[in-house]
Amino acid sequence: MKLYSTNNKDLRVSFKEAVFNSLPQDRGLYMPEVIPSLDPLFIKNIHQYSLQEIAFTVASALIGDDIPAVDLKKIVEDAINFDAPVKFLDPETAVLELFHGPSYAFKDFGARFMSRVMGYFSKQGDKLLDVLVATSGDTGGAVALGFLGVEGTRVTILYPKGKVSKVQEEQLTTNGKNIRALEVEGTFDDCQALVKQAFNDTELNRELRLTSANSINIARLIPQTFYYFWAYAQLKAQGVDEVVFTVPSGNFGNIGAGLLAYKMGLPVKHFVAGTNVNDTVPRFLASGAYDPKPSVQTLANAMDVGNPSNWVRIQDLFDNDLDKLRNMISSYTYNDEQTKAGMRELFEKYRYVACPHTAIAYLASQAYKEEYPGQYASVFLSTAHPCKFPDGIDADIFEHVVYPEGAKELAGKPKLAEPLQVDYEMFKDYLTEK
Ligand SMILES: *Cc1c(COP(=O)(O)O)cnc(C)c1O
Repeated sequence: MKLYSTNNKDLRVSFKEAVFNSLPQDRGLYMPEVIPSLDPLFIKNIHQYSLQEIAFTVASALIGDDIPAVDLKKIVEDAINFDAPVKFLDPETAVLELFHGPSYAFKDFGARFMSRVMGYFSKQGDKLLDVLVATSGDTGGAVALGFLGVEGTRVTILYPKGKVSKVQEEQLTTNGKNIRALEVEGTFDDCQALVKQAFNDTELNRELRLTSANSINIARLIPQTFYYFWAYAQLKAQGVDEVVFTVPSGNFGNIGAGLLAYKMGLPVKHFVAGTNVNDTVPRFLASGAYDPKPSVQTLANAMDVGNPSNWVRIQDLFDNDLDKLRNMISSYTYNDEQTKAGMRELFEKYRYVACPHTAIAYLASQAYKEEYPGQYASVFLSTAHPCKFPDGIDADIFEHVVYPEGAKELAGKPKLAEPLQVDYEMFKDYLTEK
């Protein structure tokens, strides 16, 4: 697999280089030089394969011989060790649940696969790989649990004190081993600024082998294609083969992976992006003008993104052609009040408790169906378990949340976080153990 930069199509880097650098120097994003087409026979018979078999086939098509098949198979089987079931709520509406991994959010697919790929490529190197990540909640948990116990790596997570939910904090702070949590006396932006400064610190980079677990890393994008194929396989097993996927979107990495799957030959009728009031992409699709704004805080806070970093990838997939984009992607935007109404509707109509992000996807899937009725399955993606968002869900609904077994166990574990002031020198001393 060779990759180019969206800012320089003549550039070519290896998969390994793209994994460790996350971003090309020119600040574009890495894209596969060739998007492989899967064998039509594989797609035709896809309902006969398991999630892991599908994941391996898709990963090998993309990654090629950068990782030998036996090793890639091990990575896939170890990383994707939980299900992503499609559940029908009524004959035309289904939810693809992506929260059955260790951090109860879809980011587990990306983080678990990336951590194992990084661990694999690091074996040859001698220096410990220091992974730095700032989180507003979901990313940190997925990265912590993804890298937990991965040899040759050490993870430092910065999270804003008092600004993540209980389950999220427990997932960040109860691990020990190669995972360290810093509870920052500041905001998510402060955490991000500290991490950014560390990456730009030449002296520090001489001393430590730093890498980011950024959501734009190609090794996080690839495994997110797996569950689109798997969802289609499940539908096909039930005789359904027309599908519209609706994806709750913030940085547009999730839907970007779906679109990549489509380009590899997955038969999808259409994609719908649901957003909160951070609506840069919906405005772009409507007007053709890309006009990012500072992010606004909402109930669906994992989607509070003013300038979605994966959008350039999606534009690249569609040759930067607005008509092609509009042909394949629609989008709808919801404010907090509507999001709450969406959660209520899901609960009252189907007894389904959803997190705010998932409710936005549900609303957008219904809006699309109303605008474009037809014989197809509307599948909306559930990106997180509702137990992670107690503040975003009305109490009378939240009390029906069924906690996963693991979440109950977390509550009894001691918190292992160190406090940190928003002070770069202190952060640096911590990293270099001075
Ligand atoms: C990260 C996240 C999203 C947004 O996904 P993108 O790939 O950034 O569009 C949506 N929902 C939840 C629960 C998340 O954690």
